[in-house]
Amino acid sequence: MAADQELPSSARVVVIGGGVGGASIAYHLAELGERDVLVVERAELTSGSTFHSAGLVGQLRADPALTRMNMYSVELYRRLKKGEHQLGWIESGGIKLASTPERLEEIRRQISWARTYDLPLHEISAAEAQDLFPLMDTEGVVGAAYLESDGYLDPSQLCYALAAMARSSGVRIAERTRVLGLDVRDSRVRGVRTDRGDVECEVVVNCGGVFAAEIARMAGVRVPLVPMSHQYVVTGPITPRIEKPLPTLRDPDLLVYFRPEVDGLVMGGYERNPEPWTATARTYDAVPADFNGRLLPPNWDRLEEIAANAERRVPIMGAIGVRTVINGPEAFTPDNEFCLGETDVAGFFVAAGFCAHGIAGAGGIGRVMAEWIVAGEPSFDVWHMDLNRFGAQYGSPSYTLKRTVENYQSYYDIPYPGVQRQAGRPLRVSAAYAWHQANQAHFGEKAGWERVDWYESNSAAGDPTLRPRGWAGRYWSPAIGAEHAQTRAAAGLFDESSFAKMEVSGPDAASLLDWVCDNNVTRDIGAVTYTQALNSRGGIESDFTVTRLGDDAFLIVTGTAFGSHDLAWLRRQARRRGARVRIGDVTGKFGCFALWGPRSRDLLAALTPANTSNEAFPFMTSTELTVADVPVRALRVTFVGELGYELYVSSEYGSALWSALWDAGRKTGLVAGGYRAIESLRLEKGYRVWGSDITPETNPYEAGLGFCVKLDKPGGFEGRDAMRDVKQRGLSRRLRALVLDDPRAVVLGSEPVRVGGQVVGRITSGGYGYTVAASIAYAYLPVEHATPGTRLSVDLFGDWIDGVVAREPLFDPAGERIHV
Ligand SMILES: Cc1cc2nc3c(=O)[nH]c(=O)nc-3n(C[C@H](O)[C@H](O)[C@H](O)COP(=O)(O)OP(=O)(O)OC[C@H]3O[C@@H](n4cnc5c(N)ncnc54)[C@H](O)[C@@H]3O)c2cc1C
Repeated sequence: MAADQELPSSARVVVIGGGVGGASIAYHLAELGERDVLVVERAELTSGSTFHSAGLVGQLRADPALTRMNMYSVELYRRLKKGEHQLGWIESGGIKLASTPERLEEIRRQISWARTYDLPLHEISAAEAQDLFPLMDTEGVVGAAYLESDGYLDPSQLCYALAAMARSSGVRIAERTRVLGLDVRDSRVRGVRTDRGDVECEVVVNCGGVFAAEIARMAGVRVPLVPMSHQYVVTGPITPRIEKPLPTLRDPDLLVYFRPEVDGLVMGGYERNPEPWTATARTYDAVPADFNGRLLPPNWDRLEEIAANAERRVPIMGAIGVRTVINGPEAFTPDNEFCLGETDVAGFFVAAGFCAHGIAGAGGIGRVMAEWIVAGEPSFDVWHMDLNRFGAQYGSPSYTLKRTVENYQSYYDIPYPGVQRQAGRPLRVSAAYAWHQANQAHFGEKAGWERVDWYESNSAAGDPTLRPRGWAGRYWSPAIGAEHAQTRAAAGLFDESSFAKMEVSGPDAASLLDWVCDNNVTRDIGAVTYTQALNSRGGIESDFTVTRLGDDAFLIVTGTAFGSHDLAWLRRQARRRGARVRIGDVTGKFGCFALWGPRSRDLLAALTPANTSNEAFPFMTSTELTVADVPVRALRVTFVGELGYELYVSSEYGSALWSALWDAGRKTGLVAGGYRAIESLRLEKGYRVWGSDITPETNPYEAGLGFCVKLDKPGGFEGRDAMRDVKQRGLSRRLRALVLDDPRAVVLGSEPVRVGGQVVGRITSGGYGYTVAASIAYAYLPVEHATPGTRLSVDLFGDWIDGVVAREPLFDPAGERIHV
């Protein structure tokens, strides 16, 4: 659409931003048949971060879903190249070097889980890497991975190609059209206000790149991203000329990447002293209004470290000189994952924060977002990229900045499991925090909360010889086993105050939850129900417990990290159904202490006048009682497979409650325990964890949670039809517990599972079970390989460890320890 053509007054979907993100989403919307789409771009196509991108397309990421999205991008780029589109796609192959033994371990782990996606990543030696990239010096290189389908392209041409294809399917593109405001009424977006007139619409997609946070603020929405300056150099010509085409090359230990560029090289990296741009601790980003098609001045000081490293790896760098330095802003997020999805404003979507891998991701991003907009949900599990993962603390510019800068600094660090981030800590703490500190708690951080992983003070009671081999043993203490064992033997006290808690109330609360949950949660007052919330395909969007507090009031408790996500999901469902409900986040209002173990009832009984017998206070019910001097809501539930309670307490009483329980319990063998013991206990019992064992890509039947699915519930529920279909069709796979022959070989997640030489599944979660004395893992297996007793093997860092499909649960299969 030429700039002098009139802007349409309406379109069903308005995409803001003509970078690679906006162009790809517009193209994929048209592919799905959504033709009434208008892209508005304040300058020209590709005048944001896209035009100055280095254009590397690496597919492998730490997140499996993103890896699959990037694989789709490559498929798309190949397809476009075969058509008439020039995008400069060169499938050059890509090398990732290991310049430390630890990096080689990471590479081997990646090679192992890449197998589960048919991604042909394989290990090569330093000499083979040099053969492929003859300019490199192999000093210090201990190995490498090679992926022949990686490559690079011209980002602007990619953007033009996608825009051209979108246009040819009917999408309109209005350049030189700046969005100045968003029309939001009744929490729904109704249109965009531009400098060329207003456009009414049902859906707005914010693809504003570094401007995305600013655009979101027009609708009162917070998108926590920070424009970060990112630099690379284009070198002078290499002489003598290298005839052989070079692959891309990454050396994360030296913080640098390379790709061929005409007769020279592109070299960039992730320096340890990064520079945010236009965002400060006290102000949100304020990108200048005329920052179109522009770059930032080179910052040689910041380049120094990576330039020196680059020369170490590719010595010719010192001689060929620098032709240009490109310093451009790019939208980074606090956790290096994208910001995708629908916001709290209905119809207002965001696709931004691409953290310097937006070219690699563009194809997948376009596809996922188009599905989300057209079908209401994406076909991939994009939870790690869902905008709704961020808690309220990311409303703070200083917190967002700290976390984002730390993330940039550690961009290339090895993501060891359990490795703890430090920026902005401590932020959210429980009422018993001081007690935990005084008792040598080892804290992990989740969603801003300080949570006890274990108490080092318990380690003397543990067995150091049980330390798992390799990475699983890095972040570990004998205390974990001691806390586990003592919980099974007597009782454990766990601080779960970080649990996300929501209150749903109002005249339509019951009917809304009836619709959202697959289980029947609207039972008697005081009933506690474990349920899943499904999407329309029957995928598990979340799982939580629901306690009926009154006719029109419910308490929902979900995992620490999932609060914002589940809250957004519930609110969206309420909006869609026009339900008259209040959905409040009461996470901080209540602490939660879990008291579990065979002696837990005696302990509780000693502190309360209430009748705690099994008859008076049965499993999966809730009651209000006092514990010592403290009023408490107690839920008789368990996540460890033992008799016990979760005690919800108004936060101001939290410290008193913890002390009362501890003082009463220590004489009878009570142990204070952390999350790592809980993890080990739950693995033995086979309790599923959302985000790993169950996700939007799995359904309750295959996950072994079919007991929750109440197909005949009057009025039905979201996902019921899909569940009926699944039941009728039968299952093709099942989530199974595996036991490895070597108890010191402990999985971390995502490892491939092999039966008879063929990869048949991928580990969802696992760990060591201290009571059953076994290394446990979970995986979805094709039904023909899911029979207990089936022998299989699991790839741990390149070693195939034998194991067997076990009968579930491994501990207390009759549930005798719970129903007493
Ligand atoms: C130096 C550098 C090197 C990089 N190298 C790589 C790489 O090798 N590989 C890789 O995968 N990624 C790389 N990236 C990242 C990649 O370039 C980006 O992730 C990607 O281009 C972002 O695309 P986008 O569509 O989100 O944003 P943009 O390209 O910035 O597009 C956003 C658009 O929105 C428009 N806009 C903003 N506000 C408004 C408004 N109010 N009204 C209308 N329009 C508006 C802007 O004008 C802009 O054109 C690199 C980035 C940089 C900075």
